[in-house]
Amino acid sequence: MVNNNATASNGTAKQPVVCVFCGASEGTSPVHMASARALATALHKSNTKLVYGGGTVGLMGEVARTLVSLSGPSSVHGIIPQPLVRFEQNHDPDDITSHRIDESIYGQTTVVKDMHTRKQMMAREVVAGGPGGGFVALSGGYGTFEELMEVTTWNQLGIHSMPVIIYNVDNYWTGLIDWVKNAVTSGFIAPTNAGILSEALSADEVIQCLKEYENAPGRFNLTWED
Ligand code: AMP
Repeated sequence: MVNNNATASNGTAKQPVVCVFCGASEGTSPVHMASARALATALHKSNTKLVYGGGTVGLMGEVARTLVSLSGPSSVHGIIPQPLVRFEQNHDPDDITSHRIDESIYGQTTVVKDMHTRKQMMAREVVAGGPGGGFVALSGGYGTFEELMEVTTWNQLGIHSMPVIIYNVDNYWTGLIDWVKNAVTSGFIAPTNAGILSEALSADEVIQCLKEYENAPGRFNLTWED
């Protein structure tokens, strides 16, 4: 389970870690790329680290580039599965020797073997960072949705107890938020679990939600290893 102490085991102060899920595309409206920059700026102001999917494209690349430009390369850790490198990092796809991201622009990058390893590493970094950290979804497609739902169900199961925030830019996620309300009314999501997902309407509100989050009681007490 989560160590909610404000200090790491070696006694040093913990730095919160936020995992951002977001599109590998830019979206058709400039508000989505602008929200990626706004979120990175808010992370910088709150001295928060980023762990993300390690891509250079779309909203993903914009969040990472912006935060590295403000807080430096050590503030960002990208974790990318090997098969995605040629699609989600801007290299010459025909030249395998060019598959090396510029860490001075995108932060530290780790290439892993598969999606599951990536998700587990990301979640572990968020949990290790302690209070103030959590998972945040910007606008995105199937990949973003899948990652968002996975950490939501992991919270419901008690695998972690970190906040999961939807940054609802331009009503992009309103359909999902309405679905949660309907699922509670219809008896498919327990009322105590309705609040696992929090909605934020601005980047500053994302940070506020992360700070104020209190995990609801009644989750299963599972552990990774079990
Ligand atoms: P998308 O939101 O569809 O643009 O995808 C954003 C990112 O989510 C992709 O670049 C993938 O790295 C990641 N992703 C994680 N899990 C999945 C999955 N099951 N299917 C597709 N993409 C995924």
